[in-house]
Amino acid sequence: MSPKELNLEDARQETVCFGKTTIPFSVEFRPRKHMGITVHPDLRVHVAAPIGTDMEEVRRRVLKRAPWILKQLHWFNCFRPLPTPRQYLNGETHWYLGKRYRLKILKDDPTGVKLRGAFLEVATDFPKDNEKVRALVKTWYREHARALFQRRMDVCRALVPGLKQANPPLLVRKLQGRWGSCSKEGRILLNVELVRAPVACIDYVVIHELCHLKVRKHSPEFYRLLSKVMPDWEQKKAKLEHFQF
Ligand SMILES: [Zn+2]
Repeated sequence: MSPKELNLEDARQETVCFGKTTIPFSVEFRPRKHMGITVHPDLRVHVAAPIGTDMEEVRRRVLKRAPWILKQLHWFNCFRPLPTPRQYLNGETHWYLGKRYRLKILKDDPTGVKLRGAFLEVATDFPKDNEKVRALVKTWYREHARALFQRRMDVCRALVPGLKQANPPLLVRKLQGRWGSCSKEGRILLNVELVRAPVACIDYVVIHELCHLKVRKHSPEFYRLLSKVMPDWEQKKAKLEHFQF
């Protein structure tokens, strides 16, 4: 087998060591000008290199990009599925705007929920009553989602050409299997769960729905508009898709 044929083998598996961390990656040699490294949301690292590139050169490049690769891996890893559903117990993880908080349930008066440092604190007369705690947390999320989504909509509206003056009605609900929608009448519906995601991901959904006010269907025109308003929307979409809670 000539070296060239070897290079054409499909995606071979390699690793590099960066400090104490081993980074596995797949490499594929293609007719292209430059080397490209992609970190996928499922934590795969893939290198596409021009045909004929030396494997040592590939490794050198991966090592050079290692801090960025690890940052991407860490980011995607944060959004992997949780092992169990929420039980509303002390110490449990809850997400808000892309940050994780631990639930702290206190017997206290008045009843209420607030963020304090790394904790989502719930004050209640019945700290052992999971259902009460759940209802309090749910209300807190809903109220914060409503206020925050409205603020993001005001910010994002100014970015979409011709929408600055528009004031589309906004509804916040728990939706199954989608983050948002835009009705024929121009009403925007957002999933309350979205408030757990980073603001950049929320903006992506808001901008997507706002673009529907101008272009109804997912046509090339729609994606042209979306890319103009948010050039890196695909990255934000990928992050959001791998956000599990
Ligand atoms: Zn859409």
